[in-house]
Amino acid sequence: MVQQRMPAEESNSKMANESNHLKKSKKPPRRDVVTDHRRQWRDCSYVYPVISRRAGGLSIGVNLSIDKRCNFGCLYCQIDRRIERPAMEVIIPQLRRELDAALTAATTGSLWQEDRFAETPADMRRINDIAFSGDGEPTRLETFDLAVQAAADAIHQHSLAGKVKIVVITNSSLLVSPQMRRALKILNEMNGEIWAKLDAGTEDFFQQVNRPAAGLNLANICDGIREASTACPLTIQTLFFRLDSQPPSRDEINAYIDRLRHIIDTGGRIRLVQLHTIARSPASSQVSTLPDDQLDAIAETVRQAIAPIPVKTYYGRNVPPQG
Ligand code: SF4
Repeated sequence: MVQQRMPAEESNSKMANESNHLKKSKKPPRRDVVTDHRRQWRDCSYVYPVISRRAGGLSIGVNLSIDKRCNFGCLYCQIDRRIERPAMEVIIPQLRRELDAALTAATTGSLWQEDRFAETPADMRRINDIAFSGDGEPTRLETFDLAVQAAADAIHQHSLAGKVKIVVITNSSLLVSPQMRRALKILNEMNGEIWAKLDAGTEDFFQQVNRPAAGLNLANICDGIREASTACPLTIQTLFFRLDSQPPSRDEINAYIDRLRHIIDTGGRIRLVQLHTIARSPASSQVSTLPDDQLDAIAETVRQAIAPIPVKTYYGRNVPPQG
């Protein structure tokens, strides 16, 4: 077979294209915008916008735990705490400035020009919420109410009251603390929401799974959930998993349902129960993802026990533990 020769111009242009292609392929592939939940945006310390499938739009995350401290040590925690960091102060005026920057970027549309958000589908280019979550328990901050007030002020300044909600995602350990009681008043005025963790029905399982700081117990956690929910509608977030390859026992699920029923029967206002399993690398190699059908079976049992309160499931994926 005779080797065909390429005209010089075409050959050069092909080489240039190949070289460009090689240069391009060295760039890290762009992450999927709805799974890219990096807690870093621009030069901000606390604020990190993410596109959330669950929220159906933009969720402006607030991380008040930049030192990665928490009063729980959940077996399934995705936060890597192997390197100890010094305690870090939260500067409320800086938080307020960062919230303004995020809301300005979203409302003017400049956010969608950023490489990371450029692939956001048109119907998700809406601000859903400001969510206090982050790398530890946000309500540990003694001035947590001032942080919530900063979010409320930013929402008002951008004329977004009634359109953007404030969500507090908490491990439920400090729902009756002075700072949370003050924050509840603001949340109530802003139609805010609390997403409260409840992972266990028995004290033993609670201690084993959530590994709380000394003095925290499940009875107090449940009392806090009930009390806070009378001021602000509350979503329960539960994460079930396999522990040493075993799903949660029937007794544990029944005890969990009893806890939910007690909260409801004593006046607690639960609007939704979310059942999750592991989807990101957990701290402990003892835990692994619960298969979809097992999560569905638990959800059905819970649904029947607490009807008409809705129960939603969020499937996980098999991921290795933190190495
Ligand atoms: S409460 Fe949240 S941040 Fe704290 S250890 Fe548990 S999963 Fe991690």
